[in-house]
Amino acid sequence: MKDACRISAEALRAAGEAVKPGISTFEIDTIVRRYIEKQGASPSFLGYGGFPASACISVNNVVIHGIPKKTTVLRDGDIVSVDVGAFYKGYHGDNAYTFPCGTVSEAALRLLTVTRESLYEGIKQATVGNRIGDISSAVQEYVEARSYSVVRNYVGHGVGAKLHEDPSVPNYGTRGRGVKLLPGMTIAIEPMINEGASHTRVLGDGWTVVTVDGRLSAHFEHTIAITPDGPRILTLCE
Ligand code: MG
Repeated sequence: MKDACRISAEALRAAGEAVKPGISTFEIDTIVRRYIEKQGASPSFLGYGGFPASACISVNNVVIHGIPKKTTVLRDGDIVSVDVGAFYKGYHGDNAYTFPCGTVSEAALRLLTVTRESLYEGIKQATVGNRIGDISSAVQEYVEARSYSVVRNYVGHGVGAKLHEDPSVPNYGTRGRGVKLLPGMTIAIEPMINEGASHTRVLGDGWTVVTVDGRLSAHFEHTIAITPDGPRILTLCE
């Protein structure tokens, strides 16, 4: 898991370094795929459920599952969510980060900051004996206290030999409820947070999830392990 997660994190970092005005999301996807394959791993998302690329790249009002395209060219002020998974020696790593492209508005920057911080609020609760609802409610309370909304239709998940495993890890919920966390569990915590209303819809391509109100959305994700010493973030670069 640690190796698969490290490769995922490094691929995500490479994607982030490429984010700048003028580059297409297709080019960023190519960087991600090449990086992962060079490590002897394979992109978890490529072909998953028929997904046609190695990374999901979701710009501005796109929440998740954006399909990289030659015609989607980044502009100054965009926010760019990149979601990357790598499969290595039988295990998956999964992580996401929303990068600012060039100079973004104060409002956009605040959304990125709050979403990233909400991920860490969730991670703090990922301790032995706590329950999934402790993670969920920590994310939700942090975000809603700052007047943003939590996407309901998509959630975090267990991750391991399969990319998506039980349990679901919603970004909303009730403290003390849900599956109990045990040592050795590995889960992906991934707040998807909207500037406006929480509602989303899927475009005609069957993948691209957008905000109904057209406002911005951000997405940060880590794969973490539950250990007796507390949560351990696996998707870190060395
Ligand atoms: Mg995930």
